[in-house]
Amino acid sequence: MIKVSSGTLGVLGLVETHLDAPPTTAYLMVGGRCRRDCAFCAQARSSKASAAALSRVSWPSWDENEVLDAVEQAHADGRIQRCCLQVTVGPGSLAQVRTIVTRLAPHLPISASLVANVAQVGELLELGVERVGLSLDAANEEAYRRVKGGDLDRSLAVIGEAARRYPGRITTHLMVGLGETEEEIVRMMALLLDGGVMPALFAFTPIRGTALEGGSPPLLDSYRRLQVSRQLLLEGLCTSDDLSYSKQGRISSLGLPRSELEQVLADGKAFQTSGCPGCNRPYYNEPPRGPLYNYPRPLTGAEVRDALAGLLW
Ligand code: SF4
Repeated sequence: MIKVSSGTLGVLGLVETHLDAPPTTAYLMVGGRCRRDCAFCAQARSSKASAAALSRVSWPSWDENEVLDAVEQAHADGRIQRCCLQVTVGPGSLAQVRTIVTRLAPHLPISASLVANVAQVGELLELGVERVGLSLDAANEEAYRRVKGGDLDRSLAVIGEAARRYPGRITTHLMVGLGETEEEIVRMMALLLDGGVMPALFAFTPIRGTALEGGSPPLLDSYRRLQVSRQLLLEGLCTSDDLSYSKQGRISSLGLPRSELEQVLADGKAFQTSGCPGCNRPYYNEPPRGPLYNYPRPLTGAEVRDALAGLLW
């Protein structure tokens, strides 16, 4: 058996469901309750949240072979571009990942999002994984220790070494809303991009039953400023020093004249889900009624204007 995100079951045709923004990646969860204890995560060791939850999405269990057949077919039909394995730390997780990768890698690009050392990253890439996701989540030492336990610098060292050895193959997740400042997120994204790591932005989502169930999601306009900063850094249109920050670490200028920013942002791509190619994570961080932090599809003109309106001019 394997856990499959509810949207993925829909796009694979395994369940009848209405999808206004179908996943463009098949999201599969490998492993049971995690040995790690990340305070925001439904799968954390001490979490009281449902074992079938990850972020705000439900992940019913399904027959593994039936799912892998359907993933292969959905890719052949052009319904999905990628398969992402979300792997919890526990007995048998890596073995199940190896089996799935061996089966699917000849057919479509695979991302594996897991806790791994550099040798394990190398083994998975060798086996056929296209991109490995090594999640940092927190952008400063204090938040990292408080939310994930352990040491931020050690985690950064593993991610950096993996990216040096396997250029262009490493993604990381950065979560906005864990007590960091906007400046810290911008400088962390710049550091990661300089090191060849693709940062994927997530908005903190309080999940009932987790240690952070009482927390609040980030302010939308703050998240928008960070999405724009990421896009400008990614396109090499500015550095983290070109932006200005208030004493509280809030972005006070985006480092480019308004007219140029409007041009760069007109297609709305900056506000869409970021990460591996083809990853759109529909409604991972927000309900479909919105407000949407990460748009899982191209924005309408009105939505782009709305997103830009929230930016500081
Ligand atoms: S960015 Fe998306 S596809 Fe890539 S590891 Fe993260 S969730 Fe998976």
